[in-house]
Amino acid sequence: MTSRRKFLLTSGAALMAGAAALKWRAVHAAPAPAWEVTHTDAEWHALLSPAQYEILRRGGTERPFSSPLYKEHRAGKFFCAGCQNPLFSSATKFDSGTGWPSFWKPLERGVYTSRTTSLGFRGAEVQCRRCGGHLGDVFDDGPEPTGLRYCIDGLALTFTPGAA
Ligand SMILES: [Zn+2]
Repeated sequence: MTSRRKFLLTSGAALMAGAAALKWRAVHAAPAPAWEVTHTDAEWHALLSPAQYEILRRGGTERPFSSPLYKEHRAGKFFCAGCQNPLFSSATKFDSGTGWPSFWKPLERGVYTSRTTSLGFRGAEVQCRRCGGHLGDVFDDGPEPTGLRYCIDGLALTFTPGAA
């Protein structure tokens, strides 16, 4: 096989994969809500540490097992580090073994996911519903009762011990 033919085959497959992804997105994507909390980029820089900014405002990911919140097992609530929106209860936290704080359900009005859960669900970005900050991703291999695994960057969270 010539390299030219190989190239054509490869790019053809990539195009087809791209078309399938776009179609899937068109079916499942919901319009993003208007964020209740907004700031200029300079304000976000002032509010967040550089590492928090990288995750919340630029969609970055922290190193696994790097967050102290991964091993946080006390009763309490987890809030958005960008706007203090209550996101998760310790009652839904579980040890996923992934190295990132994991939950099987967000609090009511806590998060926004760009795609809805459905058959063939593969994963979706999880954002704070109040400020749109990137928190992590949700996958469909979590424990009962939801079967979901919210895989969240600890740097995007703050924790307050108390009532869960
Ligand atoms: Zn927020």
